[in-house]
Amino acid sequence: MENVIIVGTGCAGLTAAIYTARANLSPLVLEGRQPGGQLTTTTAVENFPGFPDGVDGPELIMRMHAQAEKFGARFRYGTVEAFESVEGVNRLKVDDAWVETRALIIASGASPRYPGLDREKELIGHGLTSCATCDGAFYRNVPVAVIGGGDSACEEATFLTRFASRVHLIHRRDTLRASRIMADRALNHPKIEPVWNSAVTEYLTDAGGEVRGVKLKNLETGAESELAVKCVFVAIGHEPNTQPFRGKIDTDEAGYLKQAGGTFTNIPGVFAAGDVADHVYRQAVTAAGQGCAAAIDAERWLAARE
Ligand code: NAP
Repeated sequence: MENVIIVGTGCAGLTAAIYTARANLSPLVLEGRQPGGQLTTTTAVENFPGFPDGVDGPELIMRMHAQAEKFGARFRYGTVEAFESVEGVNRLKVDDAWVETRALIIASGASPRYPGLDREKELIGHGLTSCATCDGAFYRNVPVAVIGGGDSACEEATFLTRFASRVHLIHRRDTLRASRIMADRALNHPKIEPVWNSAVTEYLTDAGGEVRGVKLKNLETGAESELAVKCVFVAIGHEPNTQPFRGKIDTDEAGYLKQAGGTFTNIPGVFAAGDVADHVYRQAVTAAGQGCAAAIDAERWLAARE
């Protein structure tokens, strides 16, 4: 029986690991399919407090990892396949074997959705990204594209007008799904140009392997065209990594874990931190803050039961 298991090694999971390890709880931290979380897919992080010259996403994660290990956190690779809570004991099925824990901190994050085109994985970080806040500032005075028609796409497009010379908002229909205020803000911006009824069918690259444009298909006429952009920002939604917990722990309609005060979920001893429960802020620093809060909630919850 473990004291604390932490699922996920992004900012939320690693911060929870640092705090629970320093509280002498010897947490077991499970690294899933994408160790390090979303920060490992970015380059320079310029908005994490304490790094005035920026820090590489993977380096920031490695530092947090080392800090957690230094205080006694134990790491293990493994994919959570199932979860159950039986008579106050929380159980996880990890790579075919069950492990039991008193407290469980779920920090398994969320994965941005991508359209599923060829070479997508290799182009992420080379002119293909899902985070305008992280990467927008690298594309100053050049044209960029945003794919999507929801609030995220409008928010990203509007944010990108600070840097880019032109923002092409590519949407598969002729009306935005976004709320009126966000849609109006985007559509009324002189730098944002909507590209309606269109799907990106291919990413075009230059000799150095960087994105130089996209191939478009008009879904009404079937006409194909090319659009020259230096970066493609994908904003077609996120998928919270809650598959093993669905039906066992309360989630909202989109599948994000529900926090019932602090980081508590509806299951005793189970806490949720970071993007797995947050579709609003989704920042490294807010995820780290929630990881800290979950560790404190778990520690106090365990102490009250001793
Ligand atoms: P969303 O509302 O689900 O919108 C996703 C958009 O991507 C839709 O326009 C959808 O097209 C399009 N899309 C989906 N799959 C696609 C594909 N394979 N290829 C091309 N386009 C595709 O997601 P979201 O914008 O990330 O918003 C998620 C939630 O967070 C929403 O509840 C939103 O209100 C909220 N949010 C709020 C704020 C804010 O208030 N500040 C900011 C961001 C997000 P269709 O329209 O045709 O379905």
